[in-house]
Amino acid sequence: MKKEFNLVATAASGIEAVVGKEIRNLGIECQVDNGKIRFKGGVESIAMTNLWLRAADRIKIVVGEFSARSFEELFQGVFALDWENYLPLGAKFPISKAKCVKSKLHNEPSVQAITKKAVVKKLQKIYHRPEGVPLQENGAEFKIEVSLLKDKATIMIDTTGSSLFKRGYRVEKGGAPIKENMAAAIIELSNWFPDKPLIDPTCGSGTFCIEAAMIGMNIAPGFNRDFAFEAWPWVDKDLVQRVRDEADAKANYDIELDIMGCDIDARMIEIAKKNADEAGLGDVIKLKQMRLQDLKTDKINGVIVSNPPYGERLLDDKAVDVLYNEMGQTFAPLKTWSKFILTSDENFESKYGSKAAKKRKLYNGTLKVDLYQFYGERVKRNLD
Ligand code: SAH
Repeated sequence: MKKEFNLVATAASGIEAVVGKEIRNLGIECQVDNGKIRFKGGVESIAMTNLWLRAADRIKIVVGEFSARSFEELFQGVFALDWENYLPLGAKFPISKAKCVKSKLHNEPSVQAITKKAVVKKLQKIYHRPEGVPLQENGAEFKIEVSLLKDKATIMIDTTGSSLFKRGYRVEKGGAPIKENMAAAIIELSNWFPDKPLIDPTCGSGTFCIEAAMIGMNIAPGFNRDFAFEAWPWVDKDLVQRVRDEADAKANYDIELDIMGCDIDARMIEIAKKNADEAGLGDVIKLKQMRLQDLKTDKINGVIVSNPPYGERLLDDKAVDVLYNEMGQTFAPLKTWSKFILTSDENFESKYGSKAAKKRKLYNGTLKVDLYQFYGERVKRNLD
């Protein structure tokens, strides 16, 4: 089997650079591309990135890339790849995804079928199986993905399994949760450091608070789940266990954090508590039922992150206008606090009553949203 792979981390549009930074923080060189980040590495890198990347969606192995303007070219291109280095005899290998964009080949089911045929034929040759007899697929699963962009085929194997945003701590989600990896990316984009207070005044199921606490304590986001590649027979289980043990040793459970989540809805606070407990952070995060209009604090230099209701999702338009206006009035006295507010409302700033220093376009699932960034005034902390 191979020692080094071409790898990609996939990420939602707008947060590729955050994922790039996370990969570099692991000591791995990478190139940030549109929607994906490319890097090279062995099983250790696959394990580290799956375990540690907070903002990415998936880690995939790129088996090969070639030009494919016809089914014949697609078949020959897939057949020529070194499948013997990935798929043992007995492997399950569904072509789980085919995506065609701006390409001559545009019928995705046919692209899927041709790819499957070519891999089957190659494995029959490698493992000396008779043609015409179907291959047994009762072993570990390798999900193969084909993407055609401007007639260039990229063939990948997913290493992750269920997407990285599924950390394993969310027992319940409530009405409109933000994805865990998007929440982590927003915390990383904010100017929060573990020594500053953080408040999510519309915390819902508690995602921002839980992600911030995991960042603050340096807890690997994947510690509580497993990944598809761990079931592959050629993966060195001791090596993966070492990466997991190192992650455990790096967590700092003693650090003092000041993280609070509030929500008007007592049921959401119950849900947030359950999720925080499941993440092992029940004693770390303060959660209380409160209207954001009642938020007051004497603390300084904090960060507010909020994903308030939007018109489309949870409230009618009029109620949203009033809420955003009251939000502006409530947050205004907190001059040294930075505020990061995620909403799809394009007129947010006029309702809130203040213009953001920076606006960043993101996607919450398929919904286009903006992260409105307001920076707190800098003050020196009184050290007397
Ligand atoms: N980010 C959250 C989802 C937030 S949805 C998550 O990941 O789960 C918006 C939340 O704002 C809802 O839970 C709703 O109950 C809460 N909310 C609505 N009006 C509020 C108000 N006036 N004060 C505090 N919370 C409010």
